[in-house]
Formats: sequence, structure tokens, C-alpha cells
Amino acid sequence: MDCIFCKIIKGEIPSTKVLENDEVFAFDDINPKAKVHILIVPKKHIESVRSLELSDKGLMGEMVLVAQKIAKEKNLSGYKLVINVGRDGGQLVDHLHLHLLGGDVSMKSL
Ligand code: AMP
Ligand code: ZN
Repeated sequence: MDCIFCKIIKGEIPSTKVLENDEVFAFDDINPKAKVHILIVPKKHIESVRSLELSDKGLMGEMVLVAQKIAKEKNLSGYKLVINVGRDGGQLVDHLHLHLLGGDVSMKSL
């Protein structure tokens, strides 16, 4: 499958890894929109929130908990968790990912 994030998970495309466990992989966004901009992705290829199934419930929880853990480790005083869904929702990569954005004082506005 020609998926850039699957290739990153497999190490076929280089990335700056932040955290990895059995279920998820986290790495620095190549084009950061904040001082800290990390992408948290499931190792299993899921296209988007649209294609989530009931059995993915735990995995989604794990993604948020990994975001919490990274934010804690990086001492972020506040942060945003963003998931873009579909082209009209700003999703460019069709492998589900949670954006963790933080480290800037201008994070208040949506
Ligand atoms: P989205 O617009 O929500 O699909 O976000 C896709 C994100 O993936 C963007 O913020 C890109 O900067 C990021 N991205 C694309 N290619 C890479 C890559 N090779 N390594 C790290 N981040 C990437
Ligand atoms: Zn994928």
C-alpha cells in the first residue's frame, strides 16, 4: 500500500520518532505549525475518523493517552489535539493522525 505514514512506521521513510508502542507511533511533523508539533498515528492503517469501527475504540483512547504522555514529558503548559477529517476538513494524508500542537503563547485561538 502506498501510504506515507505506513512507510514512516516501517522505517522506510525517515522521521524523528518521539514515542512508539505496540499500537501507536509518534513523530515530529515535517512542517511544524507550532513550536511542538507531533503526529500520533495508529500502527494499523486506518484512513480517517470516518472509517473508524467500534473495535477501534481502545486505539483512539490510546492515541489520546500517548498525546497526554508526550505533552507531560515536554512540560507543555497547554496544547491542542487536532484531527482533520476528509479533504474538506483539511486532511491531506489518508492515514488517521492526531496532531499535538503546543509550546506557543498564541495557542488560545482555535
Ligand atoms: P493533515 O493535513 O491533517 O492530513 O496533516 C498531515 C500532516 O502530515 C501535515 O502537517 C504535514 O506537514 C505532515 N507530513 C507530511 N509528510 C510528512 C513526513 N514525511 N514526515 C512528517 N510529517 C509529514
Ligand atoms: Zn497507512
